[in-house]
Amino acid sequence: MYINREQSILKFFPGIKRFRFDQINKAFFDGTRSSWNDVTTLPKTMKSTLDKQISWLSFENKKVYVSKKQDTYKGIFKTQDGQFFESVLMANRKGQWTICVSSQIGCAMRCTFCATGTMGLKRNLHSDEIIDQYRFWQQFLVERPKLPQRISNIVFMGMGEPLANYDNVKNSINTLLKYTDLGPTKIMLSTVGILPQMQKLLTDPDWPKVRIAISLHSANQEKRKEIVPTTVPDFLKKLAVWSHEYQRLLGNRNHKLTFEYTLISHVNDTPELAQKLAKYIVKTAVSKINVIPYNPVKGKIFNRAEQERVDAFKNILRDHNINVTERTTMGADIDAACGQLAIDATI
Ligand code: SAH
Repeated sequence: MYINREQSILKFFPGIKRFRFDQINKAFFDGTRSSWNDVTTLPKTMKSTLDKQISWLSFENKKVYVSKKQDTYKGIFKTQDGQFFESVLMANRKGQWTICVSSQIGCAMRCTFCATGTMGLKRNLHSDEIIDQYRFWQQFLVERPKLPQRISNIVFMGMGEPLANYDNVKNSINTLLKYTDLGPTKIMLSTVGILPQMQKLLTDPDWPKVRIAISLHSANQEKRKEIVPTTVPDFLKKLAVWSHEYQRLLGNRNHKLTFEYTLISHVNDTPELAQKLAKYIVKTAVSKINVIPYNPVKGKIFNRAEQERVDAFKNILRDHNINVTERTTMGADIDAACGQLAIDATI
């Protein structure tokens, strides 16, 4: 069982006042501090006990890979119970950074084309381990003053299915919103589409109003089931109903829903399936499609859709006046691109 940081602190300081946690969090998200001794707001004795007893980050960084273009970094982390997971820092169009955080070690969803799915689920990441990915990258940048310093976006698109780790993901997002300068539109959660959890967030008063992207991958129920095996009966119909509920309860100009659609050559990239998607999206309250050219995963039979097929697919959607974007592949040379996160056993 993972003992979270707050519980560990309470073990050493049972009578600690609540405001101390606020002081600690403030110091945690100020990238210039790198140890408990730098938390100047705490009493000396507390600092030295914490320094001896509780590690500054909830995991250890084993390695950081950098892509040839130097626009993507992948960190490998070892948890206190000896497990490994990854997190990615990528340059974005604004000349700032987006971090791609993991929410679980491995994943139980088994999407047929995704590397993480082949690992199975090892365990959920605790909210400390999620927020510490931000803290790690923030410190990483501070130590490299020549790099741009600002992390402007966070996407929950690393290892794992965030809605399968609902509470830890929710708590981590609420902490990030409180202690960093990021607003809710700068954080995006991507889900395979777990309908009960999606239903739950609609009426959860503590649900942070971050952006949501749904990994659709096909607007044909059978085809989706084939590539996303967790697809429940009538998924597409239920998803459309949910999207309207979402729009009614939480939607506004800033909280539009997005579909993600990984294009796999000759699997889900045909003109017929593009037409089907164009017909489907109008039944939903989703206003944008982000296509992701498939990133190869070792041992999988799938191929990336050729650029002409990607363009043809996008053009069909555009002919229907649908807002389509294409995700730029980053970090493929260090296996840091979408769907390539899986721990190499040799580390
Ligand atoms: N579990 C979440 C986050 C997954 S990663 C989800 O399912 O949404 C973010 C996106 O990358 C998802 O849309 C996922 O389906 C997609 N993806 C997975 N493997 C991929 C691959 N090999 N190439 C391109 N995209 C991939």
